[in-house]
Amino acid sequence: MSLKLHNTLTRRLEDFQPLKGKKVGLYACGPTVYDYAHIGNLRSYIIWDVLHRALEYNGFKVKHVMNITDVGHLTGDDEGEDKMEKGARREHKSAWEVAEFYTKIFMQNLADLDIRRPDVICKATDHIKEQIKLIKKIEKNGFAYATTDGIYFDTAKLADYGKLAQLKKQDLRAGIRVAVGGKKHSADFALWKFSPKLKKRQMEWKSPWGVGFPGWHIECSAMSAKYLGLPFDIHCGGIDHIPVHHTNEIAQTEAAEGVTPARFWIHNEFLNMGEEKMAKSLGNFIALDTLKEKNITPLAYRFFILQTHYRKQLTFSWPALAAAQNGLKHLYGAAAELPKKSSVSMHSDEQTGQIKDEFLTAINNDLDTPAALAIVWQAVKEKTISQKTLFEFDKVLGLKIKENLEKPTEEISVAAQTLIRERDKARAKKDWEKSDELRDDLARLGYTVMDTPSGTRITK
Ligand SMILES: [Zn+2]
Repeated sequence: MSLKLHNTLTRRLEDFQPLKGKKVGLYACGPTVYDYAHIGNLRSYIIWDVLHRALEYNGFKVKHVMNITDVGHLTGDDEGEDKMEKGARREHKSAWEVAEFYTKIFMQNLADLDIRRPDVICKATDHIKEQIKLIKKIEKNGFAYATTDGIYFDTAKLADYGKLAQLKKQDLRAGIRVAVGGKKHSADFALWKFSPKLKKRQMEWKSPWGVGFPGWHIECSAMSAKYLGLPFDIHCGGIDHIPVHHTNEIAQTEAAEGVTPARFWIHNEFLNMGEEKMAKSLGNFIALDTLKEKNITPLAYRFFILQTHYRKQLTFSWPALAAAQNGLKHLYGAAAELPKKSSVSMHSDEQTGQIKDEFLTAINNDLDTPAALAIVWQAVKEKTISQKTLFEFDKVLGLKIKENLEKPTEEISVAAQTLIRERDKARAKKDWEKSDELRDDLARLGYTVMDTPSGTRITK
């Protein structure tokens, strides 16, 4: 049963096989650390974590690389202010302090959401040398030109520019305009921007073309190649990256190295706030801490995300999130009622095997987490799996079920515990009359009795 993933490059579901043996190189675009991540951004990281876990569940070994954009991401495509410098001005801190502060918060968000730390986390500012080297290569191969404000990529030189977004040539050329700094075509983009003549930037570096800073797209081309080699297996990101950021990453690597950087391109849909896309620029964003303030746990948010397929738009609402939190709590409670290990009386190995197959089929069908959760629910409700099997499934889901089992035996009086033991003994002897008497005794103490394959369970 092979893993099928939707490849944006071909617009098809394809069987995934790594380029080299069992090893998978995975690159996911990281955050621009000038503000809190909003929960719409965090949807992406939850999904890439599930992808990482699903690959491991299939027996692959994953090297997961994520960048941290701490320079060069402008408020407009190639114009406007650098987001880091803008954040610094807003907070009366240095751009370096802003980057450090929000990187730390972002990493805490990942931990709260049970997102495993990528194997490599690389900052753009730590890789200026690699970016300059790559731009030199692009220039040497004839794909770059200089303007008064920077070095630009000449998209007209690349025959299939825009193939990822299926941009048509005529659409691209229709937008020709005389842009600031003298770009030749509207789709051309900055590889290197010069610092303003009379102003010193907080983040700037010397380069063969003059003092300045790298364009946003070049860092991902440089760092993915450095840590994963070329080509690598999977590149992922939000759907908004398709027409510009990822299109330009592909163009840069093809111009410099003559190869498309990754074989699979996987993109997740947005989280919407009502009708609108949630975005910092629209001022309607909610951070993970906002949820915590409203007593919604980060794992409830993760559960909410997993209930919808990653390629479907998802609309945020507080009632939906509260329902997800309730659902997760029920799952934890029901999980506590499952036997620890499979037992013969409970079900056959064959049945467990069948449920495991169904779960794997759902996950391998382009990460169909809603279907996988439905299978889990059914099996937990009907008690057809053991905790051991459930914990295996949770390796993919990442809901920390094992750590959150609700333990009904906690806070149970000594008297009640004695009655439970007596009742288990009576039931073992098939003394149903005695067993019912003891059930009534427990009820008088305020406990509800449940019979489970692992014995008597009670809740207050
Ligand atoms: Zn990127």
